[in-house]
Amino acid sequence: MTITVKSFPRLAEAANALSSERAAHFFGGGTLIMRAVNEADPNVQTIVRSTDPLLLHIGVSSGRIDLGAGVTMAAILAERELSFLHPVARAVGGPAVREAATVGGNLFAHSPYGDFAAALLALDATVALAGGFGQREQPLEEFLSHRERRQAVVAMVAFKRPLPDSFRFSKVTRVHPKGISVLSISAQVPSASGRVTGARIAYGAMAPMPVRAKAAERALEGRALDAAGIAPALAVAADGTSPADDAIASAWWRREILPVHLRRLLLGAAA
Ligand SMILES: Cc1cc2nc3c(=O)[nH]c(=O)nc-3n(C[C@H](O)[C@H](O)[C@H](O)COP(=O)(O)OP(=O)(O)OC[C@H]3O[C@@H](n4cnc5c(N)ncnc54)[C@H](O)[C@@H]3O)c2cc1C
Repeated sequence: MTITVKSFPRLAEAANALSSERAAHFFGGGTLIMRAVNEADPNVQTIVRSTDPLLLHIGVSSGRIDLGAGVTMAAILAERELSFLHPVARAVGGPAVREAATVGGNLFAHSPYGDFAAALLALDATVALAGGFGQREQPLEEFLSHRERRQAVVAMVAFKRPLPDSFRFSKVTRVHPKGISVLSISAQVPSASGRVTGARIAYGAMAPMPVRAKAAERALEGRALDAAGIAPALAVAADGTSPADDAIASAWWRREILPVHLRRLLLGAAA
């Protein structure tokens, strides 16, 4: 099967090419798309790529973080200002995968992949999309619910820089240090006067795509981050999840261990 590769200097042109062909796919770092090419997946006939510098942009200010969709996990690990994201980036595959794996590609990775996307969900990120319509922004949660339609190129993600020590991440895996997720938990847990206010928690591998733990978030509101304070959140930790039975773990096991790891994360005892 012949694969056509089309390269464009501007994202808008790449987006036009992507939307004009059904079997066209955007190329991020290729860690997943090249697997499909090697397996002669008939749904991949055209690869669309772009050299637009916007894709590699990392913008860090005191209030806001911008990450171009083509920024790799390795580039995040090289940026000191993004140290709160280092545990997440380090959890994506081994060194070779991290050199290529992009932020944009992670948004499309099917469960149990998508650890970085789950972290972005906890960070309340927005997604900037380039398409025939120009560029528009969308909350990540909304984007994920439509992601299979793939009409647009993700240009960038953006989010408010979390308060110091308010962002936590934990990945449960059977193969250390770089195994695929049994599950991952990302949590942004700001507090005022020792009480949680406006927590956002997201899971990887607990649903077909990264999913928020809305019941647990509500149960944490106004509570102290101690064993008694978090107990109501742990009781509803698995509400709204629909994990898979796969080669890594059963759905039952994922639900069983979720509160154990959420407890460790919230009490600051995660590995
Ligand atoms: C050995 C191995 C281990 C892995 N381990 C992990 C892991 O631990 N955790 C994890 O989360 N993932 C893991 N992955 C999956 C994958 O490497 C990552 O999810 C990665 O971030 C995907 O990004 P990519 O740039 O390589 O995607 P690509 O392969 O380039 O693309 C994947 C999909 O996203 C689309 N896409 C990519 N970028 C854009 C864009 N800007 N706009 C629109 N569509 C886009 C592509 O068209 C394609 O459909 C692993 C993969 C391998 C091969």
